[in-house]
Amino acid sequence: METNKTVIYFSFFLLVFFSVLSFAKQDWTQLNSDHFIVYYQYTDKNFAADVARKAEEYYNSIADNLGYVRYSNFWKWDKRVKIYIYPDHSSYLLATNQQSWSHGVADYFKKEIISYAWGKDFLKSLLPHEMGHLIFRDFVGFKSDIPLWLDEGVAQWEESELKAQRLSLGKQQVSKNIILPIRTMIALDIRKIETDQQIKIEGMALDNGQIPILEMDGSSLVNIYYLQAFSLVGFLMERYGAESFVVFSRQLRDGKTINDALKFAYPQQLRSIEQLEKQWKQYLLNA
Ligand SMILES: [Zn+2]
Repeated sequence: METNKTVIYFSFFLLVFFSVLSFAKQDWTQLNSDHFIVYYQYTDKNFAADVARKAEEYYNSIADNLGYVRYSNFWKWDKRVKIYIYPDHSSYLLATNQQSWSHGVADYFKKEIISYAWGKDFLKSLLPHEMGHLIFRDFVGFKSDIPLWLDEGVAQWEESELKAQRLSLGKQQVSKNIILPIRTMIALDIRKIETDQQIKIEGMALDNGQIPILEMDGSSLVNIYYLQAFSLVGFLMERYGAESFVVFSRQLRDGKTINDALKFAYPQQLRSIEQLEKQWKQYLLNA
């Protein structure tokens, strides 16, 4: 599967150790908005202003999508989220010590987003993605039992400009039976996959019960994983609403098995992984 930077970029923010962020903060120029402080260096001031404006827009739309309305006005004053924008990719990598494929990181304890000035992709992709992570965690809690696929699914779902493109890619995958079983999604630590590694993995059982073997390189597996995470979250949110989705997420956060979390959050509609897989596949085929 082809890799598309605007569709999927990697931000395994759970793994990041922020001891690396001891950069000299005195070099920053600061721009404040209601809920954000944007720090920039030699970047065009207009870009920083665009970042602040878009961040405020996403703040409203993401909180609204997740049903966070009751708690509106979080992140004000001293709780504002800090966004650091390095002038270019190399200075970002140098300062954060990230892998070369990384374009941004979020730290939900410090409420910081760190990236570099890469124009449109920052505004339409990275910014809503990282804000999706931060708002979701603000809402659901910081315990790390939230499975990675759920976290990454929410973050991608909030990149609303890429939604249609991703849904159609997901539909293509499902119609070709290139599907990871949800149990594999749960068990797999996608962060350990090397991009050029050759992989053989069991796909989701076909209707006739046969199990296909998927062969691909590591980066394709990461793409499939991310795309499935996106459409699984999308399916749950669109079909059954944000409120049940948050209940489901909190059950998983508290260490429930996926079947128990499903039964609790969707007692009538989704009582097992198998039912979720079936309905989700149908949702994508109809997309
Ligand atoms: Zn992410």
